[in-house]
Amino acid sequence: MHPNCLFCKIINGDIPASKLYEDDEVTAFWDIAPQAPRHFLVIPKKHITGPAALGSEDEQLIGKVMRTGARLAAENGIGDGFRMVFNNGAEAGQTVFHLHMHVLGGRAMNWPPG
Ligand code: 5GP
Ligand code: ZN
Repeated sequence: MHPNCLFCKIINGDIPASKLYEDDEVTAFWDIAPQAPRHFLVIPKKHITGPAALGSEDEQLIGKVMRTGARLAAENGIGDGFRMVFNNGAEAGQTVFHLHMHVLGGRAMNWPPG
């Protein structure tokens, strides 16, 4: 729990979120400003600032984040086509510095991303 972290506050229940899934290691909730018809975030409960801060001890955890996202994509009707995104650093568009994986689907995606 990081005292000034928005996503730690969501994990803690201090800020409400529309949660799809939660267990002892990960939480998933719908993005407040969706960029696709389906857009949710999967986060580890452990406060890690972003992909660049992952340690070797986090490898299993980050694998769980990805597998959870894929399972929830299927359960929410976008299993045939979805995009997973991690932004690292402000230059890449990261605004919340608690590691999160975006899962977007429900429309055709463009490449390259903006
Ligand atoms: P980033 O830009 O850091 O990769 O992604 C942060 C995401 O968190 C954004 O897509 C933003 O809409 C979402 N977000 C920010 N604040 C909240 C919030 O209070 N609740 C929820 N559900 N999503 C949030
Ligand atoms: Zn945090």
